[in-house]
Amino acid sequence: MNKDIGIYIHIPFCCSKCYYCDFTSYSNKDQYISQYIDSVCNEILNNSEILCEYNIISIYIGGGTPSYIDSKYITKILDILKIFITNNNVSITIEVNPNSVTEDKMKVYKEIGINRVSVGLQSTHNEILASIGRKHTYNDFLNALKIIKKYDIKDVSVDLMYPLPGLTYKLLDETLDTVISIKDEYNIHHVSIYNLEVHENTKLDFLLKEGFVKLIDEDEEFEMKENIKNKLESNNLHRYEISNYCEKGYESIHNINYWKQGIYLGFGTAASSFFTGSRYTNTKNIDDYINYYLYNDRSITVIEEKEDLDKLGSMKEYIILSLRLQDGVNIQDFYQKFKVKLLDIFNEEITKMVNYELLYKNKTNVYLTDKGKDIANIVWKEFI
Ligand code: SF4
Repeated sequence: MNKDIGIYIHIPFCCSKCYYCDFTSYSNKDQYISQYIDSVCNEILNNSEILCEYNIISIYIGGGTPSYIDSKYITKILDILKIFITNNNVSITIEVNPNSVTEDKMKVYKEIGINRVSVGLQSTHNEILASIGRKHTYNDFLNALKIIKKYDIKDVSVDLMYPLPGLTYKLLDETLDTVISIKDEYNIHHVSIYNLEVHENTKLDFLLKEGFVKLIDEDEEFEMKENIKNKLESNNLHRYEISNYCEKGYESIHNINYWKQGIYLGFGTAASSFFTGSRYTNTKNIDDYINYYLYNDRSITVIEEKEDLDKLGSMKEYIILSLRLQDGVNIQDFYQKFKVKLLDIFNEEITKMVNYELLYKNKTNVYLTDKGKDIANIVWKEFI
């Protein structure tokens, strides 16, 4: 039986740049869209031999804002990928922003087999959305949900974010309450709630440094974290990964494969892959990407970063990725994969973290405690 593989497609176009955004995304390059999509199709076809030998379990179309571009482009990409799909159970997700969901697009998404939609909401408060440069409102979000429901896509995920400029405990609490109150009506079975990272050279970085906006202090942030966990978990959304909550059976297949160090190929500018023990990332330069894949300019270095993991590096990475998940590292799975015992190699690190009450260890698994989930970076450092 063929090995499983996940596929990521990067669509780097957006209507505008959010203030916190550090992703490879453009709000001023619409003239590139058609050539870019043809380049992605060529990159996929260049990998035909590999794709024929693997079982595609998930396709994740992310960005950027995939719903920003004409749906005919999404169709074009999926038509090519379908050549390589050999089972009927592929999870196909598309990321959408509330202000770019239309009936026409959603109708096409449904027809071409997209079965999961991830909606970037961030907050239900319009003044908070404006403070981070999001161009949609809460009403846009509700309209998007109505359209998604009309076209019968039954697996919806919502992205939220904290802390944000102006976001108080009360406002975040209201956002959580609102999402929870409509989740059954609109098939929201999954919530991702990300901790804001302030990246250098973003507009938010500038606004914070110049004192135009500020964020809450660590104590308030800790209270928010506690509330998020308690509120979502008491509403049937279990925390299966540090930043991800869902109803049982609605875990993200694509991301679980990533956290279990599964194989995946990423297509598009800045897309990353993990294949035959190597991690590599495509160039972030869209001109170079198009010139390489559309105009065959082989003088261009299209892979920007590449890391070949040795066995120890691979084991450490496996531990860090697995610890993100609720069940953490399964000791038997670790042995099956690496043919060495977890505790023979990492007993010292694990014992230290257990003594700090950041890790918990039983006969079968090693996993983060609640405290460990809050300060996971300290745990990661032990395994880097
Ligand atoms: S929608 Fe996403 S990718 Fe686009 S600018 Fe905003 S955060 Fe960045």
